[in-house]
Amino acid sequence: MNELPKDSIKCLDKGFVRLVDSMGGDDAIVQSARVSYGKGTSKVSQDRGLIRYSMRHRHTTPFEMVEFKFHCKMPIFVARQWVRHRTANINEYSLRYSEARDEFYFPDPDNIEFQSALNKQGRMGEVDSKLKHKVQKYFKEISQRSFEIYSELNEAGVARELARAILPVNLYTEWYWKNDLHNLLHFIGLRSDGHAQYEIRVFSDAMASFVKKVAPFAWEAYQDYAVKGMRFSKIEQIFLQKKLPDRVIDDIQEDVAYQLTASLHANKPRSDEDLFPLYKDQGGLDGPEDFNLKWSSGEIETGNVRELREFKSKIESLRQA
Ligand SMILES: Cc1cc2nc3c(=O)[nH]c(=O)nc-3n(C[C@H](O)[C@H](O)[C@H](O)COP(=O)(O)OP(=O)(O)OC[C@H]3O[C@@H](n4cnc5c(N)ncnc54)[C@H](O)[C@@H]3O)c2cc1C
Repeated sequence: MNELPKDSIKCLDKGFVRLVDSMGGDDAIVQSARVSYGKGTSKVSQDRGLIRYSMRHRHTTPFEMVEFKFHCKMPIFVARQWVRHRTANINEYSLRYSEARDEFYFPDPDNIEFQSALNKQGRMGEVDSKLKHKVQKYFKEISQRSFEIYSELNEAGVARELARAILPVNLYTEWYWKNDLHNLLHFIGLRSDGHAQYEIRVFSDAMASFVKKVAPFAWEAYQDYAVKGMRFSKIEQIFLQKKLPDRVIDDIQEDVAYQLTASLHANKPRSDEDLFPLYKDQGGLDGPEDFNLKWSSGEIETGNVRELREFKSKIESLRQA
């Protein structure tokens, strides 16, 4: 079967990922996070905020309410890594039941590199075209020869479950793979990362593109807090506490106070005379004149109130004791 199924994303030379079915999306996350409320009881911005809050605080079970079922075709050595993700439900093409197909992975010349000297689990450095050619030739030779032997044993009536052991791990297999969004994001986090092997990364990226469509807010939150977010160890925090002058913390908190004021005002507009007291309530240090000057500049950004408050208290915790 060399043709790609409809709506699938081609991966490597002969593989693909296809979303067979999905259950729920951002709605399902919000619905379960709110437990008892149904769809349509809240504003889209509140839904987004709730998803982002849940992701930020690792309230993970609502993300388990969304399910994805994929049909995937990949080389066996990729499946070997993939199958380590234990929370999925899998049903794979059986080489005991069915005959193997003459479908092997041949790496593209761009992806033939040297063993990395820095990372024992990686590749690095341009291989000259002569060696690349040799790599491709060996891949083809061994695949072709092993398939000939496999076919010969098959025709002689040797059990398929045994004859298959002759075949190398660049043989393509395929499966149905079902998982919930929380665990799928965990998979994508590990397998779309630059440390993962290129050949599995391609499949992970393909699945990610489906997630982005099915649950866009969850995907956005995952990018902001899990992929691009940063956590500091206790040791790193002590280092920051020692090195970060109080005036820098004051500056940051001052900006946050302005952003909090602007965000609260955007959520629920206040009268002009209420703005300065509102700013003071957020811990603002400027006097009324400076406040008016800055406020009228129109340069104050808005954000999520809860997130800004969390940031404010994190920054405060870095103040020198
Ligand atoms: C870059 C990279 C290099 C790797 N190198 C190696 C290697 O050299 N050798 C090797 O063997 N593996 C290697 N792995 C595989 C890795 O150790 C994990 O097995 C794989 O990433 C799956 O992660 P997981 O267990 O968190 O995921 P899942 O199996 O999807 O599990 C998700 C979470 O559920 C929980 N969980 C699920 N099942 C159990 C269980 N039975 N018991 C307890 N908790 C459970 C755990 O909290 C887990 O984090 C590598 C993975 C990566 C990404």
